Amino acid sequence: MSKGHEGATLPSDLLHQAVAACDLGVVVADARAADSPLLFVNPAFERLTGYPAELALGQNCRFLRGTDSAQPGLTTLREALLLRSSCEVVVRNYRRDGTLFWNRLNVSPMLGPRGEVTYFMATLADATTSVQAGQQLLEKQQRLVRTKRELTALALRDGLTGLFNRRCFDDQLEREWNRARRRQACLWLFMIDIDHFKQFNDTHGHQAGDRCLRAVGRTVQELFARGSDMVARYGGEEFVVLASGLDRRQARARAELLRQAVRNLAAEGLSSAERSVVTVSIGLASVTPDERLRPTDLVDLADSCLYQAKALGRDRSVLAPAQRYRLARAA
Ligand code: GH3
Ligand code: MG
Ligand code: MG
Repeated sequence: MSKGHEGATLPSDLLHQAVAACDLGVVVADARAADSPLLFVNPAFERLTGYPAELALGQNCRFLRGTDSAQPGLTTLREALLLRSSCEVVVRNYRRDGTLFWNRLNVSPMLGPRGEVTYFMATLADATTSVQAGQQLLEKQQRLVRTKRELTALALRDGLTGLFNRRCFDDQLEREWNRARRRQACLWLFMIDIDHFKQFNDTHGHQAGDRCLRAVGRTVQELFARGSDMVARYGGEEFVVLASGLDRRQARARAELLRQAVRNLAAEGLSSAERSVVTVSIGLASVTPDERLRPTDLVDLADSCLYQAKALGRDRSVLAPAQRYRLARAA
């Protein structure tokens, strides 16, 4: 007999019936016997696990996890039982036929008159659907994060050449400008424009033009591959390089190296007739940023050098005179 509402007593077979009718698996283990064997399992336990009572009784409940013992939930469970407190964990268990199910296990120690643990009582519920839904949600979130990262990376790139695009260059120029200003360092800008490219397209077709753009882009990238160099496609057939740590002699040498490399363009898919006509003009300029100057001043300066290179006959590089810009502004 058990005490019920307001001291009324319930026949214990009624409680038995209630536990037997319960949808949750209910088990009781003997905490005083070696290895806490199961003393009782209800029909819902049998349905959930596939183990009939006669196979389960007398065993420690751990047979349900098989060899899958490295689970954080099991560590939590062991710690709670050591402290004689109840706990809820969700662990991987296996039915008699070997299939996995997620078990929402609720364990409570039952204490004897002297406070010793006499029994463990536990309920088991199949949490597979909700765990899988949670996992799917997590995977979905991870996919979204990946997609967002890829889209962000794509937004910085030019689709044809794979180089950074104009927008990315503008941002980087701003950042590098501020950095060079703090360090009182010199910032270099190379503006590179393919010569007579309209004619190239007209003669060889737009597809060949695209291949040529990719090949020139690759060449620029190969020659300016230091970590501090930034190569971008600035516009149609124009490329820019932002660089630092160069003196005038080195900057000029690099521009010449690039010019020669384009002349010797080894572009896959370009016929030798197409390659032989590809040249670039380069304007290069440097400034040490200060409060009187803006990043666009460096762009204008390199651009005017490029314009001169074109006017002088193309296939050449023009270097801005030292300090010319600062002197011009001061005048
Ligand atoms: P200059 O030597 O003075 O630079 O002459 P140019 O013909 O190179 O210059 P212009 O500005 O007259 O022409 C640039 C050409 O670049 C025109 C345009 O069709 C071509 N172009 C721009 N973007 C692309 C592209 O993505 N693919 C191809 N194939 N051609 C492009
Ligand atoms: Mg141009
Ligand atoms: Mg051009």
